[in-house]
Amino acid sequence: MHELSIAQSMIELIESEASRHAARRIRKVRLVVGEMSAVVPEALQFCFEVASEGTVAEGAGLEIEKRPLKARCKACGRAFAVQDYAFICPSCGGYHTETISGNELYVDCIEIDDVE
Ligand SMILES: [Zn+2]
Repeated sequence: MHELSIAQSMIELIESEASRHAARRIRKVRLVVGEMSAVVPEALQFCFEVASEGTVAEGAGLEIEKRPLKARCKACGRAFAVQDYAFICPSCGGYHTETISGNELYVDCIEIDDVE
């Protein structure tokens, strides 16, 4: 399952960050997820709760920030929101585009509690 492996690598990252900062508990984690990464937030939320059991991240809040899919036309430079995966420029009809947003999948910030 896609979301479970994401949740597990999040926990790994969180645990190494927590030990680096001598944190006893994680209050909140923010994850940035692009449209193209095909993450189902509800499923990820559930997997995160399961994967964090017994770890420093247990009970931590998970915030998921979604980024829409956007591309830029290489011919005219117009940036546009991509709908239904149609990478066609609305200005000039060009299809040579580069993706500028929507591929993200990373932990943006971790809020730590009780540093000793
Ligand atoms: Zn264009």
